[in-house]
Amino acid sequence: MISMMLNEIFERHNLRLTKPRQQVFDILRNSDVPLTVGDIAKNCKNINRASIYRTLLMFDNLNIINTITIGWKNYYELAEPFIPHHHHLYCINCQNAEPIQSQELEKLIDLIGKKHNFIVTKHHFELEGICEKCRHIIENK
Ligand SMILES: [Zn+2]
Ligand SMILES: [Zn+2]
Ligand SMILES: [Zn+2]
Repeated sequence: MISMMLNEIFERHNLRLTKPRQQVFDILRNSDVPLTVGDIAKNCKNINRASIYRTLLMFDNLNIINTITIGWKNYYELAEPFIPHHHHLYCINCQNAEPIQSQELEKLIDLIGKKHNFIVTKHHFELEGICEKCRHIIENK
């Protein structure tokens, strides 16, 4: 099902779904957390980093992935319709990115767009901080 969707997107744009492109997609698909280019490179040593970057850029333009910027680092993960829309609570201590879904947030973004007569096509929202698990560790020190 998911592979079919990917094929369709590539066909619609007259692009070839090459093996390396499929490979980068599969790595993202099999991950529960957003990945850096380094994480992806570790899992596909046959593809050089420049090609991975180009593939990610292409995926981003095709709305196949979301690029999440936390601090100075870019993380990548599949976008809708491959996975449900969500945001992250990023822990600066353990570097875990906890997915969150918030109707309040989505409603607010919609409202802000309308208020400014602005058609919102994409939005980014990430929270950085200390997760519950790490807070306990820090407090007990
Ligand atoms: Zn943590
Ligand atoms: Zn995520
Ligand atoms: Zn959102």
